[in-house]
Amino acid sequence: MVRVRFAPSPTGNLHIGGGRTALFNWLYAQAKDGKFILRIEDTDKLRSKQEYVDEILNSLQWMGFNWDEIYYQSHRFNIYAEFAQKLLKEGKAYTEKSPERQGEAIIFKVMPQQVKINDLIRGEIEFNAELIKDQVLIKSDGTPTYNFACVVDDATTDITHVIRGDDHISNTPKQALLYEALGFKLPKFAHLPLIMGIEGGRLSKRTGATAISDYRKMGYLPGALVNYLLLLSWAPGNNCELIDINEAIKLFDLSDVNKAAATFDLKKLNWLNNQYLKNEDSDKLTDEIIPMLIEKNYIRKDNFDRNYIVSLVKLFQPRMSVVNDFPDWADFFFVDELNIDPAAAEKYLNKDLSREFKLLLERLKVLQSFDIVSIEESFRGLVSELGIEAKALIHPLRVALTGKTIGPGLFEAMYYLGSERICKRLGKFIR
Ligand code: GLU
Repeated sequence: MVRVRFAPSPTGNLHIGGGRTALFNWLYAQAKDGKFILRIEDTDKLRSKQEYVDEILNSLQWMGFNWDEIYYQSHRFNIYAEFAQKLLKEGKAYTEKSPERQGEAIIFKVMPQQVKINDLIRGEIEFNAELIKDQVLIKSDGTPTYNFACVVDDATTDITHVIRGDDHISNTPKQALLYEALGFKLPKFAHLPLIMGIEGGRLSKRTGATAISDYRKMGYLPGALVNYLLLLSWAPGNNCELIDINEAIKLFDLSDVNKAAATFDLKKLNWLNNQYLKNEDSDKLTDEIIPMLIEKNYIRKDNFDRNYIVSLVKLFQPRMSVVNDFPDWADFFFVDELNIDPAAAEKYLNKDLSREFKLLLERLKVLQSFDIVSIEESFRGLVSELGIEAKALIHPLRVALTGKTIGPGLFEAMYYLGSERICKRLGKFIR
């Protein structure tokens, strides 16, 4: 049975790169009906923090990657000690007294040899182990090193495939030597390509947000982010970019993962997120948006019309890149004092439109029914009577009513604003 593991160190938040590694492990387990194991590599007592463990677990759950088993390296120190003792006894390791501290380190004797790994993504890789120095297994303070704990854990938890980032490739020969010395069966290795920032170089904080939880806070949907992470290193064929995760499970295999470095492109992520937002349940989105509106004082916690907000969410849904766009884009439905973009006012409200606005208000006032179709009809009637082009009035009207040059359909926006607010806002421009 396939058993894979994701092994984050809780010394920071879960990053895009870690999220992708988790995804490919989880996906492979699903595709092969195997098990996805989570291992918290918390041997560094100073740098590991519970808040990071929580953050990592939350981010994984948010993306939908539930694990079948979880291990904490900090609970397994006796197991590492036991295997280090075994190597000592067999003469494959030696101890060394630390000059500064009490206690002894246990060190692995590296035998010069060639190491060959058949990587499932990169193919055969050969390493010259003559360059590898003897390896510390257990430090003098009793903590195991990453390479040693990793091998002991992967072997004793029956990991069949080690899927991880390219940045670990130099560790792989060291680990292979330890497998051999301990008499463990070597698992299969698959090293995922590096993720670069759009300006080249490794993806880093400098080039934008890197933590999965940051994307969550910014209003990305988990499905879209997972779809994007998938595309970073794998393509399902047919130039298809929107992939349902269940479809991906059916199609995925490690041998199809790209060898070339991936580039993190926020524009593409935004495009994908918009595709997912369009199809998202409006009620669910409304649940996410309501707290944002309360925080902005756009609505009162205990007194708002939920159905009205659902309608507005539906209005903006086809256009939003991220959920968090909503409060900024839809502000004009909630504020009394409209915030008019000065550049837009300069461009579209720089001449006197008293006559046009007044005539429009007169037409709207006598409408039998204030609905989207009737609003549009009265507008179209007016521009044809005035003998002007529709856009000559649409743009100024939009700016006067919404403060912006872009937004949802104007007549829909007018419908949801209601005649009273339209009157008030246009009134300001009537002399
Ligand atoms: N704790 C290591 C990391 O976060 C795990 C590496 C591995 O998967 O072996 O990079």
